[in-house]
Amino acid sequence: SNRIMLGPLVAAIDQGTSSTRFLVFNAKTAELLSHHQVEIKQSFPKEGWVEEDPKEILQSVYECMDRTCEKLTQLNIDISNIKAIGVTNQRETTLVWDKETGEPLYNAIVWLDLRTQSTVERLINKTPGRNKNHLKTGLPISTYFSAVKLRWLMDNVEKVHEAVLSHRAMFGTVDSWLIWCLTGGKKGGVHCTDVTNASRTMLFNIHTMDWDPELCKYFDIPMEILPKVRSSSEIYGLMVSKSGPLTGVPISGCLGDQSAALVGQMCFKDGQAKNTYGTGCFLLKNVGTKPVMSDHGLLTTIAYKLGRDKPACYALEGSVAIAGAVVRWLKDNLGIIQTSTELEELAADVGTSYGCYFVPAFSGLYAPYWEPSARGIICGLTQFTNRSHLAFAALEAVCFQTREILDAMNQDSGIHLSQLQVDGGMTSNRLLMQLQADILCIPVVKPSMPETTALGAAMAAGAAEGVSVWSLNPEDLTEVTSEKFEPQINPEESELRYARWKKAVQRAMNWET
Ligand code: ADP
Repeated sequence: SNRIMLGPLVAAIDQGTSSTRFLVFNAKTAELLSHHQVEIKQSFPKEGWVEEDPKEILQSVYECMDRTCEKLTQLNIDISNIKAIGVTNQRETTLVWDKETGEPLYNAIVWLDLRTQSTVERLINKTPGRNKNHLKTGLPISTYFSAVKLRWLMDNVEKVHEAVLSHRAMFGTVDSWLIWCLTGGKKGGVHCTDVTNASRTMLFNIHTMDWDPELCKYFDIPMEILPKVRSSSEIYGLMVSKSGPLTGVPISGCLGDQSAALVGQMCFKDGQAKNTYGTGCFLLKNVGTKPVMSDHGLLTTIAYKLGRDKPACYALEGSVAIAGAVVRWLKDNLGIIQTSTELEELAADVGTSYGCYFVPAFSGLYAPYWEPSARGIICGLTQFTNRSHLAFAALEAVCFQTREILDAMNQDSGIHLSQLQVDGGMTSNRLLMQLQADILCIPVVKPSMPETTALGAAMAAGAAEGVSVWSLNPEDLTEVTSEKFEPQINPEESELRYARWKKAVQRAMNWET
C-alpha cells in the first residue's frame, strides 16, 4: 500500500490528572493525525488524600504510544516521520524513586491532596502574608505545591527516608519521572525538569531561575535529590529501546500542562490569556519577561522558556482546584450520572439551578482565597430541587470560580479581557461554555482542535535546537478555527447570581473554625 507523504511529525505525551494521552501532529499544519487516551486510577486512601500509581502512569504512556503507532500504521503514515516528542504533565504531583532499583518509593501524591494541611497551617502562622518565600517563588504556602508533599514523604515513609540518607533518592514531578524512565531509567536515565514545572515546587526561585538554597533549607530538603532544571524546549535525551518504533526519537519539549496550553493557544504576547477546564480550572495570562506579583490572590509562575538562550516569560495564574472533578464526584460518589457527557443533558433539562448554589471546596479553596480549611457546601435547597438543578449548579460553580479569578486578573492589571480563550476536556460541554459567557458577560472562544495542551508541548519539542521542524513564529502558524459563545443574558441577572455565589462561598470558608 502507498505510504502517505507527509512532512515531519511531532508527538506529545500529555499526562493529566484523570488520563494519559499520546498525540501525533503534522508539524507543518498543526493537524492532529492520531492519538490514544487511557484513564488513570485515583485512590483516596484517607479523607483528603489523593494518590496515583507511578508505574500505572508509566504503563499508560507506553500503552498510548503503542496504540497510537498502530493507528498511524493503519493510516499508512510512516512512524519514522516522528522527529521529536514533547512531554506535558499534571503539575505539582510529587514522586520519589530509587535511582538504583528504578522503583517508586511511594505512590505519587497528587496536587489536590490535603494531607499536609496541618503542616501548611503551621508554616503560614510562622511566616504569614506575602513573605520572602512568596516573593521568591510567586506562590503562597499551600498544600498545592510539591515541597510540602516531598517533606511529608521524607517524614512519614521509611523507604523514602532511608533512600535519602543513602543518596539513592530522586525527587521529581511527573515530567521528571517520565523523562527519566523513557531515557533509560536506572541505566542512565536523564534526571531533569523544565522551568515551568520547577516553578510549582516552592523550591524554585523565579528570579534567579534555579533551585533556591534558602528555600531548600526552609523545607529541609537536600538539593542532591532535585532534578536538573532545563528550558522548556531543548533535547533532554533520546527514547530508549523499550519504546519500540519510537526508539531514538529525541524528547525535546517539556512544559507543565497549563503552560503548554498557553503555548498551544499561541498566547505569546503580553496580556494574552487562556482558561483550561480539566480536573481543575486554570486561567493563565502572559505578562512578558518580567514577573508581576498579584495583589488579588493570583500566583506568579513561569509561562515558558522556549530554548536555552531564550528569555523566560512569566504568567499570572488563577488556579481553581475543583472543576471537572465535581463532575467525577457527581458520577462516582452520588451516582446521579453514569458518564460525564450525561451531565449536560441533565442540566439542560431545567436550564437553571433554581436558586441552588454548590461550592465544591473539596480541597479547600485556591485562588483567590487560598483557604485550606474551606469545605464544600450546597445551599438554597427546597422541596422542588432535583438532580437536574444540582447538575446545573455544579456547572455554574465552574463558571463562577472562573469569574472570580478573571475579576482578580482584571483588578491586578486594570485592563479587562475582551474575550476568553478556553480549552480542556470540559469545554466539550456546550452548555458550560454558554453559561460561562453569560456569567463573564464577555464572549468565550474555543478552538476547534481541543488538544491545545498537547499541541503546545509538541510545538516546543519540534522547535528545539537540533530538531527545528516547527516554527514558533505566530505569523507562520496556520490560522486556527474556533467557535465563539456570546453572552445571552443581561448583565444585571448575571450580577445577581454572582452575588449569591459569593454569599455561598463565605459560608464554605473556615468551615471547621
Ligand atoms: P485533566 O487534564 O485534568 O486530566 P481533562 O482536560 O482531560 O482533564 O478533562 C477531564 C475532566 O473534564 C474530567 O474531570 C471530566 O469529569 C470533565 N469532563 C469531560 N467531559 C465533560 C463534559 N461533557 N461535561 C462536563 N465535564 C466533563
